[in-house]
Amino acid sequence: MKILVLNAGSSSHKSCLFDLSQGDVGAVPQPLWRAALDWTHQPGKVELSASGGGETIQQVLPITDKAKGLKAMVNTLVDGPTQVLEGLAAIDVVGHRVVHGGREYIDSVRIDDRVKAAIERLIPLAPAHNPANLQGIEALEDILGDRPQVAVFDTAFHARMPEAAATYPGPHAWVEQGIRRYGFHGISHQYVAQRTADMMNCDLAELKILTCHLGNGCSLAAVKGGISVDTTMGFTPLDGLMMGSRSGSVDPGILIYLMRQEGYSADQLDRLLNKESGLQGLSGQSNDMRSVVEAMEGGNPQAQLAFDTFIHRLRREMGGMVASLGGLDAVVFTAGIGENSPLVWQQACAPFEFLGLRLRSDLTRSKEDQDIASDNSRVRSLVIHTQEEWAIAQACLALL
Ligand code: AMP
Repeated sequence: MKILVLNAGSSSHKSCLFDLSQGDVGAVPQPLWRAALDWTHQPGKVELSASGGGETIQQVLPITDKAKGLKAMVNTLVDGPTQVLEGLAAIDVVGHRVVHGGREYIDSVRIDDRVKAAIERLIPLAPAHNPANLQGIEALEDILGDRPQVAVFDTAFHARMPEAAATYPGPHAWVEQGIRRYGFHGISHQYVAQRTADMMNCDLAELKILTCHLGNGCSLAAVKGGISVDTTMGFTPLDGLMMGSRSGSVDPGILIYLMRQEGYSADQLDRLLNKESGLQGLSGQSNDMRSVVEAMEGGNPQAQLAFDTFIHRLRREMGGMVASLGGLDAVVFTAGIGENSPLVWQQACAPFEFLGLRLRSDLTRSKEDQDIASDNSRVRSLVIHTQEEWAIAQACLALL
């Protein structure tokens, strides 16, 4: 079975093709083909990169229409040096990452008009993502006709959270209005939780796992018996941890203050909190942890403050997740920072030594998933490379 996976964002599209007739379904196979569109590269143009059949191409195309860009990207599957298929008829199913499934979609679902209407209805809850996801679905419909398409929701894994964890303590009307914690990065948290159980040779149903997705966006999940019972992102992906350019949780009184005293509009607050905060805002250097650490090591006090605040908030929220779990078998790090920063692993885990969590002294990054806890640690700590595209492909296979 050939599964095309599309991860559509507002400024980029990433795609890959898996062939499940090749290799073991349980292991993570290399995709036959990978491609990406970057719409931020040059005004009026898109950068297309693709690799397949041992070849790689990079092109800058004079395209501004997203659907046309997607068509050019999909075309590299069947034409040019990266060709891996004789024709697009060979694709059996398309899996889409859809960011917000609201309360209706707590599992992956085959896309039909009702599902598309729901994704559209949920746009006010995910204005940066759901429109791009819908556009991707419709573009692929144009290209592939009535080929089955599947939506895999980033919110779905958190949909079984206890009500007390999902509820914001505002007026009761919020409950009816759907103003609640939805949580995001669910595809990643679910994948790494299952992989943890596999690596520990345990049944997921028996484990209490704290998963730390630390990338440009950051969130934690408390995964108890395979279910997300708490998470740090909330009604939007702005809640919780400090991130690359997002503030994470701040006192809501600050927003009222800025509106009253400085006349901030909703759009200005949106930009301030989503684009001008976090590592970027505090360090004044970059949203990239590598640059912040480099500046910090060079003695930059703002970068030091940004790093220290990132770690402080991470530790505090990790402690909260441990309370929600009521125990701890494993702490797992994933995504750009989580997969690559021994400094962050050490700093994040240090205060939990009293729980029996001890890391090895020889920590290095690896291309392989690894256990970084010392042999005598009571709690395991794993670094797992998240495989969101593969998880989406598996969800398609399970559904069809
Ligand atoms: P992601 O959103 O998962 O693609 O993660 C992207 C982020 O990972 C970048 O913005 C960096 O902050 C971070 N990152 C990538 N490589 C490293 C590294 N070697 N050390 C620390 N952070 C890294």
